[in-house]
Amino acid sequence: MDKSFNAFKMAQEQFDKVADKLELNEAARDLLRNPMREYHFNIPVKMDDGSSKIFKGFRIQHNDALGPCKGGIRFHPLETIDTVRALAMWMTWKTSVVDIPLGGGKGGVICDPHNLSPREQEQICRGFVRQLGKNVGPLRDVPAPDVMTNGQHMLWMLDEYETITGEKFPGMITGKPVGMGGSLGRTEATGYGVIFTVREALKELGIKTENTTASVQGFGNVAQYAIKLYNQLGGKVLCVSSWDQQDQTSYSFHKNTGVNIDELLEITDKFGGIDKAKAKKLGYEVLPGDKWIDVECDILLPCALENQITAENVKRISPKVKLIAEGANGPTTPEADKILAARNIFMIPDFLCNAGGVTCSYFEQVQCNMNYFWSKDEVLGKLDYKMTTAYHKVSSLARDKKLYMRDAAYVISVDRVVRASNARGWI
Ligand code: NAD
Repeated sequence: MDKSFNAFKMAQEQFDKVADKLELNEAARDLLRNPMREYHFNIPVKMDDGSSKIFKGFRIQHNDALGPCKGGIRFHPLETIDTVRALAMWMTWKTSVVDIPLGGGKGGVICDPHNLSPREQEQICRGFVRQLGKNVGPLRDVPAPDVMTNGQHMLWMLDEYETITGEKFPGMITGKPVGMGGSLGRTEATGYGVIFTVREALKELGIKTENTTASVQGFGNVAQYAIKLYNQLGGKVLCVSSWDQQDQTSYSFHKNTGVNIDELLEITDKFGGIDKAKAKKLGYEVLPGDKWIDVECDILLPCALENQITAENVKRISPKVKLIAEGANGPTTPEADKILAARNIFMIPDFLCNAGGVTCSYFEQVQCNMNYFWSKDEVLGKLDYKMTTAYHKVSSLARDKKLYMRDAAYVISVDRVVRASNARGWI
């Protein structure tokens, strides 16, 4: 991990650029450059061995002018407050760009679930809600799973919240298991959403999906479902990459005839790590982890983590690449972005491209609040409509005003939040 990389600085830099474009006044800049509210707290936990341990937790509510804050809770040993701040800010832009009535938030606990028993993790979840109970809830701030948290963690948090309030509030948190307030289609939502936007972009570029090839970084939830739908639309993935926990490095898996998602899934662990020995036996070329970026193809899909396309490696991107769709959050640095814009590579920016997840979380919340659940087809149909509408709103602004797609997406989402803050009399 690059210790000098500060995601919050990058998020602020991106915002400042749009603030200049929109000629925002000082109050609007001051409001939106920084979170509206931050909660920093200690979570005391009785460990299995009888000792006590204090875990540090955060919840950042960046802006809630458009509705209750929405965003995940991460469990990570290297969590930093600035990463959580950046992610909260990106959530504000993400909910705004897809036009859902929610704001942006994010939370985190400094801990490593690999070294914690389920009981200890449950205590962290319940402790998190005990510290924050008054400041979250279906009408305030709605958390969700994120890095190293899952539906079980969300259920523990919900149960603690309902125990404290004495009432049932299934819409207090999303990402719950199906049957316990979760929505069908949530697992597919982010990856499918990525491809709904890719499909629309290719149409606009006059390229048939079935004539395209792609290279993907990552093979987790987002990448797997993106590849599935892209394949269904006729596209061919030449390379995927994943992290190898044992070797503490990443590898790229390349096949000229196209990777086979089903055979790869059979040799992939639950963290999205592909078994390299088995992959070799299946005829994959196993290359160094960053090789996915050199692949001669039409589309790059960074779907792993932030800070991956940088000023150093951007030059390696093949002249054949026409489109980059950011499944991950923050995969491209601002320096690399400038070079991509100059090269005229069409960019579908992260907070638009991967907004399918939060859109489906919003659907989960709506279903919970109504206590009536939709079929999977209904959820995915509504998701397609939301993503396609948001994509076209951004791409037509980009065309009309000759803006880079990221800038157009920022202009739309920041403008919506500014208008809402203005209408409320905040600025
Ligand atoms: P995941 O944990 O399911 O998968 C991550 C994948 O990336 C794994 O295959 C892992 O092996 C791989 N990976 C990790 N480090 C790598 C490296 N250095 N090189 C190559 N591969 C590497 O995570 P996910 O849910 O698929 O999320 C991926 C990205 O998408 C993250 O940036 C996340 O914040 C973002 N995102 C996820 C969702 C969602 O709904 N899951 C929604 C919006 C954004």
